[in-house]
Formats: sequence, structure tokens, C-alpha cells
Amino acid sequence: MSSPTLELTCDLIRRQSVTPDDEGCQLLMTKRLSALGFKIHHLRFEDVDNFWAIYGDSGPIFAFAGHTDVVPTGDSEQWSSPPFEPTLKDGMLYGRGTADMKGSLAAMITACENFLADKPILSGRIAFLITSDEEGIAKNGTVKVVEWLEQREEKIKWCLVGEPSSSKSVGDVIKNGRRGSLGCELTVKGIQGHVAYPQLAENPIHKVAPALAELTSERWDEGNAFFPATSFQISNFNCGTGATNVIPGEAHIVFNFRFSTENTAEDLMRRTEEILNKHHLDYTTKWHLSGQPFLTSAGELVEAAVKAIKNVAKRDTQLSTAGGTSDGRFIAPTGAQVLELGPVNATIHQIDECVKAQDLDTLSDIYHQILLKLMR
Ligand SMILES: [Zn+2]
Repeated sequence: MSSPTLELTCDLIRRQSVTPDDEGCQLLMTKRLSALGFKIHHLRFEDVDNFWAIYGDSGPIFAFAGHTDVVPTGDSEQWSSPPFEPTLKDGMLYGRGTADMKGSLAAMITACENFLADKPILSGRIAFLITSDEEGIAKNGTVKVVEWLEQREEKIKWCLVGEPSSSKSVGDVIKNGRRGSLGCELTVKGIQGHVAYPQLAENPIHKVAPALAELTSERWDEGNAFFPATSFQISNFNCGTGATNVIPGEAHIVFNFRFSTENTAEDLMRRTEEILNKHHLDYTTKWHLSGQPFLTSAGELVEAAVKAIKNVAKRDTQLSTAGGTSDGRFIAPTGAQVLELGPVNATIHQIDECVKAQDLDTLSDIYHQILLKLMR
């Protein structure tokens, strides 16, 4: 069993591109793309390799987006086969990155090769936005390439991210949005003292407890057809000296919102601080917004993907906004329609990560169909 998509996937897996290293994966891709006539821009930001490749002269841009880096293998002794040696067994391809997401990268390349082989007259441009730091801190990758594109006044209209979106069979789930993530480190000040002399102290636990109760019972929104209601969770609460007779001087609380498109980070911050203020706390907050929510509810891209999956895989697909964040969060705010469509995600980041070998060809055919629908 072999195919161009499978072979390219294997070549990519042999390169040990543990985040943020690329180890030549991008060169392998850009060689194939420049042979097709793509213009390549290698964009290295600090220690991170990225590239932007574009085919065609005018018209709306359809971009494939993805990452060449992979998460560490963990103890490679625990793998059934060496993680960077692609191994086919019973129709499954094993190796780090097979599902997340070197298989998708290979399928994107072969889809373009098949599509352009017929020398179609394009109604737009085809692009690749590829990074090698999606699995890491994501500071010098997609976010920087998007800034670079904005400086050049280039706008992506449709963006297909190759993240492994599928649940049981390829194409059964596509992600048309993601919840936002907003975190906060809250410090509440009191006055340390002896438990026997509370009149001389001020207990920050006692002061913050009613405020936390209010925050945990607040309805932030009701969600909508695509998102569950916004959730608030306290993940850490640290306070106290360990001694039983000391009123602590400070309380440290860490909490996180996973929020829907019914809310904004600004509103959540404002409402949180209103509640804290109501309880007359002496406090500081350190907010961290790690991703805005986004939603591509309808439009040409979703429609093209749903039809392509039906044509190629003979299956109805389900739209979902579940799961963690992805680099789609950096592209969606530019106004692009963003969709994630990739292989089955059951083993991603695990020991013995694998993908059904045949699914990679199916994925390439689905990508090809999407190009036919949007670019002709
Ligand atoms: Zn990924």
C-alpha cells in the first residue's frame, strides 16, 4: 500500500520536528509547492520557521494552514515502533505527527498537485500558511505571519486548518469555531495576624469567599446554537502559612473563563471586577487572554467542505466548536472564514499516535474537492 500522500507523510514523520524545531519539513513542502509555481516566502521569526506560499495573481485567497512541529514523544521505549520511523501495521500508520498534523500537510500538497495538474483557470489564489510553533508558545508563528500579511494588505478569505477534527471516521466532524479562553491571577490582600487577635488583622479568605461564591454562581451568558454557555472555573486557591494560628496576609486565586461568542473578554473582565469591587476587596488582577472565540457559521467554506465530505467519504458531517484552542484563533479575527478539517484525533499527543493510512488519501481527495468548489 502506497500513495503520494502516504509517502510524503512518511518523509515528514522522519524529520524529528519537536516544537519549535522544523527540521527541514517546510523545505520539503516548499520544494513541492515551488515546482507547482507557488511563490514562497520563508518567514523566520526568532527561532521559529514559518512560510507563506501563494499561487495565482489575483482574486480571493483560499489558504491551507497548519504546523510542522509535533509534541515530544514521551518515553520512546513505550512506543510499539520508533516514533520517528513511520510504521505501517494493519492499515494504520504509526509515528509522531501522523494525525497532528503531518498527514494533513501531505494531503494539502497532493491535493494542490492533483488540482493544478488539470491546469484549471482559477477564480482566486491558493496559499499555504505554515508554522513550526503551534504546539509550543505560539508567539513567533501564525500570529506573526498574520501581522506580516496585514502589513502587505493581504487578506485571507477562506482558511482551512488541517487540525485533526474528526472523531471516528475522517470528515465526520469539522470545527467551525472555538471558544475563547481568558485567565486571571487574582491576589487579595489582607493583614496578617494572630488568630486570637482578629481585630488586629484582616482575613483575605473571609473577605474573598463571598465574592468567589458570587462569581461561581453568576450566569455569564446562555450560549447560543453553536456554543455552550460561558464557563467560569477556579483552578488554584493558595493561601495560608501552614501554621494553625496565623491569619494569612494574602490569598492567591487562579481562574479561567471558556467563553462563547455571546461574550467578550472585555465584558467578562468588567463584570468580574464589578463583583470584586462590590465586596470591597483590596485586590490586583493579572489577566491573560489566550484566544478570542470565533465562529464561521455559514458561507462558502462550510458549504464546500460539507459537500466535499459527502462526495468523497459519503458521510454527513457535524459542525462543532468543542475542544481546545488552535491557530485558527489568530486567523479568524482578520475576517477570514476559518474551518478545521483533518484526520481522526483519537491518538493525538499520545504514545503510538496513528492514523488510518487510507484516510490520508481520502483527506487529500476532500481537500481537492474543496479547491474545485472554491477556486474554479
Ligand atoms: Zn495540531
